[in-house]
Amino acid sequence: MRKPVIAGNWKMYKLLGEAIDTVMELKPLIINSTHCEVVVAPVFTALKSVCSRLEGSNIKIAAQNCATEQKQGAHTCEVSAEMIKDTGASHVIIGHSERRQFFSETDETVNLKTKACLESGLTAIVCVGEMLDQRESGKAETVVATQLAGALDSLTVSDMKRIIIAYEPVWAIGTGKTATPEQAQEMHAFIRRILSEKQESEVAGTVRILYGGSVKPENIKDLMTQMDIDGALVGGASLEAKSFAEIVNYK
Ligand code: PEP
Repeated sequence: MRKPVIAGNWKMYKLLGEAIDTVMELKPLIINSTHCEVVVAPVFTALKSVCSRLEGSNIKIAAQNCATEQKQGAHTCEVSAEMIKDTGASHVIIGHSERRQFFSETDETVNLKTKACLESGLTAIVCVGEMLDQRESGKAETVVATQLAGALDSLTVSDMKRIIIAYEPVWAIGTGKTATPEQAQEMHAFIRRILSEKQESEVAGTVRILYGGSVKPENIKDLMTQMDIDGALVGGASLEAKSFAEIVNYK
């Protein structure tokens, strides 16, 4: 059985006080939600304070990126996986399409960052997903397969047990256009097939694959009925504690 994960990506939203207010509002709303793991990803500057407020709660904290470098050094403005771990966070979102589109993230850097997370004892949430023109020209599976091959290059079986994949079709992010549950399931099953070719099927069966792209309280239930959808990575609808809690409490 794969325990579902519902993760909120707060992107570059919320000042420190707002981030703290949101998690304090969220905490009681999901206190009994033991059916899934709950993760929220504030900006770097809020990580430590938010982690302190959530100590002992069932909400885990993610960073939205980390450095490829693992050792401290002259890398101005970079934040290492070890430094993220030091804040109390447990997860890192890696390779989000906004990082790929606007900040030159490549499959190679996604791979290095994933390894850095794993070495620091963090869980990597590795994002993949095709653009609209790639889907329309029938290349969605090839694109996702290439991204996965790059991101997961030379990861061991035990590494694979500590990562989460997020399938986020770029055309569905922040657009209000969700992939249908069937479209999402089809890609999730494809991803699991690739994992089973790369690793033993036992591993492929245990990796959680989240769907992301305009997930809302109104569509989470249908998405979660699909066999290979193990949770959601939520952007816009995670910014409000109430709507995020409704998504978490989809059952
Ligand atoms: C995201 O940013 O990962 C995302 C899925 O955004 P949204 O839910 O707003 O589409």
